[in-house]
Amino acid sequence: MALPSTYADRNCSLARALEIVGERWTLLIVRDAFYGVRRFGDFATQLGIPRASLTTRLKALVQEDVLARDDNGEYRLTDKGVALWPAIRALMAWGDDFYSPKGVKRALHHAEDDGPIDARGRCTRCGDLVEVPEIQIAPGPGFESTGPAKDPVSAKMNAPRRLLEPI
Ligand SMILES: [Zn+2]
Repeated sequence: MALPSTYADRNCSLARALEIVGERWTLLIVRDAFYGVRRFGDFATQLGIPRASLTTRLKALVQEDVLARDDNGEYRLTDKGVALWPAIRALMAWGDDFYSPKGVKRALHHAEDDGPIDARGRCTRCGDLVEVPEIQIAPGPGFESTGPAKDPVSAKMNAPRRLLEPI
């Protein structure tokens, strides 16, 4: 799944990072892990990804220590995985700014004081840089409901919840 490295890539840490998480499915798996998805079957259902592709990508993410697989076979973000949050938040904000005319699809708030979190990850109410487990995520004005969720996992993911809280 990794793209071949080129000579120029050796001095670019963006290229190195993209070798790990530059593939679309991979970054969406990481996103869902932030939303609290932990089980293989739930990743498969949420993403609609072929199971073989999911297996390959989960293995690679575990190998790179982005995800850890526990004794129950559930996947969780490691500290190294959680460190990807600012990149994911920035890409979501970019997508909202340029491709979501009705506003943000997912609104981020500081769980403690319900302050909206700005594009740099700071609470606009208390000024704190909000840690990932303190982030509350909820459908925003740009969120397009596709009707009542057909499965309990989707229903939970689309309700206000804290990041990393298991589904
Ligand atoms: Zn706050």
